[in-house]
Amino acid sequence: MLRTTLSARALKLSRVSNYTKCAPRRGYATPSTYTNIRTHYNTTLAGLSPSENEFREAVWEFAGRVVEPSRAKVEKEIEAGGRGFEEFMGIHRELAEMGLHGITVPTEANTESLGLSLPYLHHLLTMEALSYVSGGIALSYAAHSNLCINQISRWATPEQKARFLPGLMRGDLLGSLAMSEPGAGSDVLGMKTEAKYIPEKGGYVINGNKFWITNGPRADVVVVYAKDSPSQSKTKSTYTTFIIPRETPGFSTGQPLDKFGMKSSPTCELIFEDVFVPEELVLGGKGMVGKGAKVLMSGLDLERLVLCGGPLGIMQAAYDTTLEYVHTREQFGVRIGTFGSMQAKLANMYTAVNSARTFAYSVARAGMLGTYTYPPLQRRDCAAAILYVTDKASKCHWSVCRVWVGMGEYINEYPAARYLADARLYAVGAGTQEVRRWLVGREINADFE
Ligand SMILES: Cc1cc2nc3c(=O)[nH]c(=O)nc-3n(C[C@H](O)[C@H](O)[C@H](O)COP(=O)(O)OP(=O)(O)OC[C@H]3O[C@@H](n4cnc5c(N)ncnc54)[C@H](O)[C@@H]3O)c2cc1C
Repeated sequence: MLRTTLSARALKLSRVSNYTKCAPRRGYATPSTYTNIRTHYNTTLAGLSPSENEFREAVWEFAGRVVEPSRAKVEKEIEAGGRGFEEFMGIHRELAEMGLHGITVPTEANTESLGLSLPYLHHLLTMEALSYVSGGIALSYAAHSNLCINQISRWATPEQKARFLPGLMRGDLLGSLAMSEPGAGSDVLGMKTEAKYIPEKGGYVINGNKFWITNGPRADVVVVYAKDSPSQSKTKSTYTTFIIPRETPGFSTGQPLDKFGMKSSPTCELIFEDVFVPEELVLGGKGMVGKGAKVLMSGLDLERLVLCGGPLGIMQAAYDTTLEYVHTREQFGVRIGTFGSMQAKLANMYTAVNSARTFAYSVARAGMLGTYTYPPLQRRDCAAAILYVTDKASKCHWSVCRVWVGMGEYINEYPAARYLADARLYAVGAGTQEVRRWLVGREINADFE
């Protein structure tokens, strides 16, 4: 309770003044109106506590007022292929101003007390709000705040935290995490990027390439996984995690990648050519050499949980805009929402978004039992939650397209195609749907054994 009251204050609720509620209709599913957002988000089914809901409303209001008006400009800026990213970095700093980058970071003096010390549920709620208005800006926010900042917060030494976290949380710096490689996507531990220890130099020389890295084109700080050379184990490969600042000699980035969706999130290849990294930049210090697989796998669990907010927010946006559309568009002299086939689609969407949300929130809540950190979150539940939410979102977005057809499925007059394209990323990033199914099945079998 105290935590969320503190968070509400940190979120400058005094700035959150102008959301209003419409009159209740039949006592449930009251649509809420925020700046630029009118949503049928079902607060009753979401089951949030009053303070959690207060937090949620604050981030929805922020998303509508600050992020939504910039979405198209950020898309154009990234499409233009420059490296300045003024609009994108402007939003990044606004997010910092709200305190949202350090949402799960403990409030500690050595990080200028910029962390909000909130549970992963709040991080998921923030992702949901941002994804409602821009899938891409939300994805970049997740890469920065969860993949980069949260990993540094969980594993770094006090000195590393003091050096990197304040700038990242203040929004002066942009963060990324680099795990995937051209030949190592699902099989991420098959990575070829190698870190060779040079004792006389007191550090490592890194060579290799990372691919599809969110925020890569502009990132100032990258959390990088590399295979140890020589391995720390006699029987298998081991890995170490590094924090690499952009200005490190030998580090460079490729051209931003042209993507199917997530147009407001920059992505590119990272190149490491004889990059020298001193021992002080091993994430977690000397004791963490050879333990990168644990850092990577546990980070993926939390990433999957927080990313659930992505497909959820996009799905809610799709549902809201479709509901408005079917009650505006007329064919054969009646609103298309009165056709049985359209009602069936609405019913499926309504069921999908609410069931998916309830499951994702309850997994996040499981992480709050007793402790706010990992564990007791279960690996299989984080994977199952994003698997389920993504499945529901994919089906929902195809339905949305079938409602908007000429206006939105094929012509970008309405955002149906954007929703579909943005949501598809969640079937790919943080492990594919197939890999999540495999992982959940494997964990269930392991429990049985
Ligand atoms: C927009 C975008 C942003 C990204 N951001 C980042 C980032 O910030 N950092 C980062 O490190 N990575 C990032 N990624 C990379 C992402 O995590 C990988 O693309 C993903 O892990 C899948 O790898 P792949 O594309 O090589 O597919 P592959 O591994 O080649 O998979 C091909 C097919 O084989 C299936 N398959 C593979 N293994 C199995 C198995 N064991 N069982 C069943 N089926 C299997 C897959 O499900 C898939 O259908 C990003 C990707 C995209 C598209």
